[in-house]
Amino acid sequence: MENNCPDCNELMGWDKGSYHCESCDKIFIKQGYCQVCDAQLEKLQACGATNYFCNQCNELKSRSSANIVFEAKKAVSS
Ligand SMILES: [Zn+2]
Ligand SMILES: [Zn+2]
Repeated sequence: MENNCPDCNELMGWDKGSYHCESCDKIFIKQGYCQVCDAQLEKLQACGATNYFCNQCNELKSRSSANIVFEAKKAVSS
């Protein structure tokens, strides 16, 4: 799976649980949305596998039944 920046389409690097685009200097995280009701999914991490849970459908969603989008993360000023 390619991880390209939604803004500039450059390949992003992986950095401490999030994606970093060097050209935009932005941090992105992957967020899953339910394909059925479009609600934001809760990410469940178990045994190295990622699953998603929809609180609206009250159902566990696999990666393939979720819309995965990159969302910009607010920059943490250090
Ligand atoms: Zn970018
Ligand atoms: Zn749902």
